[in-house]
Amino acid sequence: MDSLYSTACNTLSYLFQSRPPEDFDVLAPKGETGNSQEPTVQRIRGHGHSSCSTANRAVEEEYELTPPDSPAAVPPQRPEQDLSGGETTSQGPRAEEQTPQRLRLLLVGKTGSGKSATGNSILGRETFMSKLSAKPVTTAVRSGTRDWAGKTLEVIDTPDVLSPQLPLAVATQGCCAAIASSSPGPHAVLLVTELGRFTAEDQQVVRRLQEVFGVGVLAYTVLVFTRKEDLDSGSLDEYLRETDNRELAWLDAVCGRRHCGFNNRAEGAEQEAQLQELLQQVGVVLWEHEGRHYSNEVYRHCGQTLFGDGQGRQPAPGHGAEDRPQDESCWEGLRLIQRASEDTHKCLLRGAPI
Ligand code: GDP
Ligand code: MG
Repeated sequence: MDSLYSTACNTLSYLFQSRPPEDFDVLAPKGETGNSQEPTVQRIRGHGHSSCSTANRAVEEEYELTPPDSPAAVPPQRPEQDLSGGETTSQGPRAEEQTPQRLRLLLVGKTGSGKSATGNSILGRETFMSKLSAKPVTTAVRSGTRDWAGKTLEVIDTPDVLSPQLPLAVATQGCCAAIASSSPGPHAVLLVTELGRFTAEDQQVVRRLQEVFGVGVLAYTVLVFTRKEDLDSGSLDEYLRETDNRELAWLDAVCGRRHCGFNNRAEGAEQEAQLQELLQQVGVVLWEHEGRHYSNEVYRHCGQTLFGDGQGRQPAPGHGAEDRPQDESCWEGLRLIQRASEDTHKCLLRGAPI
């Protein structure tokens, strides 16, 4: 068992260390949700109870390592349609059929990157407090909803939960709140970063994102660049193609080049247009995962123990994790399994470029 696990770690490290971004497309766990299907291509199974793990609970995850030129690595044709099902292509109807009625979008990123402002732009109203401040303004997980093209968008805003500087107990508490609030799992994770300012701190956040949610979360991630207005007449695609920031180029490639820009000062038609662009990228994530939301051991545990229904529960609009059931022993169980999961993923990520 241990040797299998170390094979998995070594293989993942090898992939991260030895291949430039262009050489691989997706490193993803198969969407492990209620309706998940068995992986059909190469699979490595890792068991998180080796010497890498200090936690007392085994965490088991399945990973699908997709070779770059495998037909499964990149969908044969990406859907061109948005989630409202306006335009269609030959692949269109499939995406339309598989779009869930309620979409959970989880905002993450370093403090001050513009998560709350982006959440407000998506919702079309000032739901989350957003302002320039030396101290974090958002202190609790919050969510808000809006109707869009006959669907419900649920936006979950997070405080500073991915900073590596946080004390362990505070970090675990915050991460568990984010997980509980996005239970049974987000359909897309929106990793918010400021255009032109992808720093070492952002890299640490990316690393923490993978540790906290699992290595495969990047397969459900869309990069959202705020301060899009700084592009002036240039395009974001061009900017990312030409950037000499290796880590940013790597991240964009690993996220399947799902990215979009937001000018959070925009209003009216411009605001709608950038939301449309974002939702097109979310549509790609859904298409790639056949409409399934992200899930992992911690989300499943959360649904079963915290909410007792195996499915998790939607938070009431405008409310956060503090509105969830407060049985302390359930939260303690969640914190334990979260730490065990993080230990496993820390081990898997050893040697990764970010
Ligand atoms: P958070 O900590 O990630 O939630 O960041 P906030 O949403 O609180 O934003 C931090 C600051 O950046 C605020 O002053 C926002 O008004 C500003 N900001 C966010 N997005 C944009 C943008 O697209 N353009 C400009 N000019 N400012 C932005
Ligand atoms: Mg905020």
